Amino acid sequence: MPRILIAECKQEVSTFNPVLSGYEDFTLRHGQSILDYHRQVRSEVGGALSVFDATPGVELVPTCSAHFITSGGTLADAAFERLAEELLSSIKSAPAVDGLYFSLHGAMATLSEGDPEGWLLEQIRKIVGEKVPIVISLDLHGILTDRMLEQSDAAVAFHTYPHVDFFGTGERAARLLLRIVAGDVKPVTAKVTVPALARGDELITASGSIRHAVNAAKAVEQSPGGLSAAMMWGNPFTDVPALASNSFVVTDNDPALAEREALRIANLFWEHHEKMQVPLTSLAVAARMSKENSSGTVVLVDAADATSSGASGDSNAVLRALIDAGYEGTAVIPIVDPDAVQAAFQAGVGNAVKTTVGGALDAKRFTPLPIEGRVRMLSDGWFHSETTRELWQAGPTAVIQVGNITLIVTSRAVSLYDRALFLAHGCDPKHFGVVVVKSPHCEPHMFKEWAARYIDVDAPGSTSANLRSLGHTKCARPMFPLDADVPFQPQAKIFARCVA
Ligand SMILES: [Zn+2]
Repeated sequence: MPRILIAECKQEVSTFNPVLSGYEDFTLRHGQSILDYHRQVRSEVGGALSVFDATPGVELVPTCSAHFITSGGTLADAAFERLAEELLSSIKSAPAVDGLYFSLHGAMATLSEGDPEGWLLEQIRKIVGEKVPIVISLDLHGILTDRMLEQSDAAVAFHTYPHVDFFGTGERAARLLLRIVAGDVKPVTAKVTVPALARGDELITASGSIRHAVNAAKAVEQSPGGLSAAMMWGNPFTDVPALASNSFVVTDNDPALAEREALRIANLFWEHHEKMQVPLTSLAVAARMSKENSSGTVVLVDAADATSSGASGDSNAVLRALIDAGYEGTAVIPIVDPDAVQAAFQAGVGNAVKTTVGGALDAKRFTPLPIEGRVRMLSDGWFHSETTRELWQAGPTAVIQVGNITLIVTSRAVSLYDRALFLAHGCDPKHFGVVVVKSPHCEPHMFKEWAARYIDVDAPGSTSANLRSLGHTKCARPMFPLDADVPFQPQAKIFARCVA
């Protein structure tokens, strides 16, 4: 009758976003409410619970779940200390357990700690002792550090981008944990670090050249002796010492197999890495193309302000470019600006509002743009993700009509990698001449499959695909594409815990 502890601490940051993340940027859940929530959603914890719930005799010990509302800037030290204290004290006060499942993203960073997840695992290990198996789940945009692998027994990571396997990853983590707890397998991990930061369509796992590495990982995971494997290319905007791409393979007590396969996956990644960049179109050209388009929708992808990658979400760069170009068609644009929202609430629905939008957070990159419009809708900004059905909270939100341009102005950043914000505010993207999508990729049916044009714009922003423009200072060098002629001498590091 195994007793399994459940914990979660997920956040992804862009260290180039000048706005620090705080404690209020997390949703905290404790005890039973973790189970109640995650049994309703397609999250990693939800997937893990589906396995534990279907296994007779498993007793669950839900402790603490800290889940980012959306990605953001570097986490303030005090906020991390408070989160860590809540998480660790809940684990300290839990009864003895036989195994621990810890759901992570992997791309956290605080002002003074580049590997908060590894630090948390070290503390958790001190609490539960050396013998309790710990399995972690990770986003493939996580930065896989040595410390994470030293302090856990095995890692499981996403295989899909755009991500559609949150739930499946949790299921895989739970199944592996139960096998380790039962003594059926003894995990050993090999990790290979690749000095490359990747972006672009080649990373779409269904069609891009990344599929060679990802399919190899999936194959070894399903092969005899294979327990888990993945290619993790990290979040290029989390500039921390360990930032890089990594392959890893977990086998059942077979370090040679783990090493061979991790090297193979890393080499398959490296073989294609030069293509893993994004050809960008200048704002002026993108605006002109929008103006010239005669039918259907132009999707302007502003991934430089991708809130789900950690950007501030308050870029008005595309809006400005459309106005400057004299674009007269319809457009829908999401933008974070709490003061503009407040002005709209003061004006009231149906009334005129005069305010500025943009530059409310990242004042270094964006200048507030004066607008005069009409308030069409006010909401509490709560809606459910189209992808996972999770509750997303944008805070008080206003739909402001400025001429033909519809602005969905939120009080805080919210994920924009699906259409949920648009649809929740009565804006079907198909009905607009231009849609600004602040996400590098969405599932194809959401925009790409039907858009008349789909343009990656070169706008300023803290998650720009123009990686050289950001000014990395902490990651190891040389690093592709920040440096020229980067050598790759693949070496595997082996991690194994002695579970007596
Ligand atoms: Zn991700």
